[in-house]
Amino acid sequence: MNKVRTRFAPSPTGYMHIGNLRTALFAYLIAKGNGGDFILRIEDTDRERYVEGATQVIYDTLREVGLNWDEGPDIGGPVGPYIQSERMGMFKDYALELVEKGEAYYCFCDKERLEEVRAIQEASGIMPMYDRHCRDLPKEEIEKKLAEGVPYVIRQKMPKEGEVVFHDELYGDIVTPCEVLDDQILIKTDGMPTYNFANVVDDHLMGITHVVRGNEYLSSAPKYALLYKAFGWEEPVYIHVEHIMKDKQHKLSKRDGDASFQDLMKKGYLKEAVINYIALLGWAPKGEEEIFTLDELIEEFDISGISKSPAIFDPAKLKAINAKYIKNLTPDEFYSYAEPKIREAVKREDVDLKYVASLLQARTELFTDIPEMVDFIDALPDYDASLYTHKKSKTNSVIALDSLKSVLLVLESLNDWTTDGIHEALFKLIEQKGCKNAIILYPLRVAVSGKAFTPGGAIEISFLLGKEESLARVRKGIELLEEEAE
Ligand code: GLU
Repeated sequence: MNKVRTRFAPSPTGYMHIGNLRTALFAYLIAKGNGGDFILRIEDTDRERYVEGATQVIYDTLREVGLNWDEGPDIGGPVGPYIQSERMGMFKDYALELVEKGEAYYCFCDKERLEEVRAIQEASGIMPMYDRHCRDLPKEEIEKKLAEGVPYVIRQKMPKEGEVVFHDELYGDIVTPCEVLDDQILIKTDGMPTYNFANVVDDHLMGITHVVRGNEYLSSAPKYALLYKAFGWEEPVYIHVEHIMKDKQHKLSKRDGDASFQDLMKKGYLKEAVINYIALLGWAPKGEEEIFTLDELIEEFDISGISKSPAIFDPAKLKAINAKYIKNLTPDEFYSYAEPKIREAVKREDVDLKYVASLLQARTELFTDIPEMVDFIDALPDYDASLYTHKKSKTNSVIALDSLKSVLLVLESLNDWTTDGIHEALFKLIEQKGCKNAIILYPLRVAVSGKAFTPGGAIEISFLLGKEESLARVRKGIELLEEEAE
């Protein structure tokens, strides 16, 4: 059997849509899971879409997530060049080979004629198609026109009848009646190939065995199949993957702000989590486990697990996966990501940032959420007394006032301002009062943070803030509740 060779053939657009990244990932996993090669080919011939520096974005993104290619523009390889615009001279000979074989033909029709034909077809409600005017020109006429230098294109000769069967791994056999197929242009008047033609020839010349691509190409697929047949080349395995959707009706688009890898990085996701999540968009692992490193994905991935239904991008799930990755970081790794985010909100110099990070790790879903989670450290935010009313903790403003007053007395006389010391003092109080922990701890948490949810609890935050600051905040809480009681 041939060595598996897959390719990622992006057009440089300046950003990496996660649908494209998923295509790259699937192609990579198929190659690596089968001991094959993953090839990068840049399809940059659509000059209108060309964006300066965009190729670099492709290199950077793929390298960042670990999808390293075995052959590609910057590292070379046996079937280069790997940038399509540098291959433009190679296609015409292949088209001429098809002319020779009677599978393609010269077409000398000018723009005016083609427009006329089109207008007539549209007026009579026929699907516009080339009317095959030049398909059977006599040899002498062709030669004469060529000698005169009449501009021409080369068109593929589609079978007039019968059906073409295109096989896709996911969709199975797709049967298309040949009569609906236009004699598509292979080589344009400037001698350059059309996109479809270049794509097929390139895949063949690069020995690609499996093509993973978006299913917007499915409608062109019968033409691809006929080209392979015309050349007598072996078709690669085709896997047309469904779109990634924002919801049932809408594709995830650049406007949605989650659509590109760059967007997700800016939002603070870990690249490992993003790759893991993208793998699950349209692919289902065999078992229950959903958390996979790239190496584990290579082991797990199987074409038969790819789905035919569109995958819906679910930010909540991505966040949950991200949180799992964050939990699994070592404290030092976590700190290296979290420190700049903590610093955005915490300017005080006397705060132990490593300690703050240790409180954050279990509760962080996204690094960009951190500033908001720790903004209470520098200054107690304004908060409403209603925060002291909490069903689960069974507190209300009357209970909280009483709790805070006792807490103040206990903590004022505490010298051992450590988590253990604070813990011991507060639990002694709880015991004396014979109350539930939350009756004491919840009001204290609110008093020291101005929030109902915090990284760490009342004890950790009090320790972090220091005795003086904590007591000042408890007094403030008492004041607020007393005003409320008046
Ligand atoms: N250059 C195409 C794109 O970026 C890829 C087509 C293909 O993979 O065959 O959409």
